[in-house]
Amino acid sequence: MDCLFCKINANEIPAEVIYEDDKVIAFNDINPQAPSHFLVIPRKHIATLNDIGDEDRELVGHMVQVAGKVAAEKGFAADGYRTVFNCNPHGGQTVYHIHLHVLGGKPMGWPPYQETLKTEV
Ligand code: 5GP
Ligand code: ZN
Repeated sequence: MDCLFCKINANEIPAEVIYEDDKVIAFNDINPQAPSHFLVIPRKHIATLNDIGDEDRELVGHMVQVAGKVAAEKGFAADGYRTVFNCNPHGGQTVYHIHLHVLGGKPMGWPPYQETLKTEV
């Protein structure tokens, strides 16, 4: 399978890994959008949020918990951080292996979409 994050999981492509266990890996984003920007991925290939099955519930919960634990280790959990799952083109997904973005170290803007909303999307 030609999947970038499966290749990072298999150590075929290097990454700055900051956490790993038997289910997930966290590594720094190559193009950070905040002072700290890392991704939490499952070792299992799941293409999009739409492909999460009932059997994946615990895995996805673990991804979210790891996000918080690594944020705490990095020292910005109490100040806060942004977590994002992008899904498919309208969500801005570019790598089709689910990943939880964690952005911290400065206040994040909100909302992410600021054009005048049209009735149809
Ligand atoms: P998406 O747009 O799919 O939500 O996010 C994909 C993220 O993966 C982007 O933030 C992008 O910078 C990051 N990324 C793409 N290629 C690589 C890579 O080879 N290594 C790392 N560490 N991050 C990558
Ligand atoms: Zn994959």
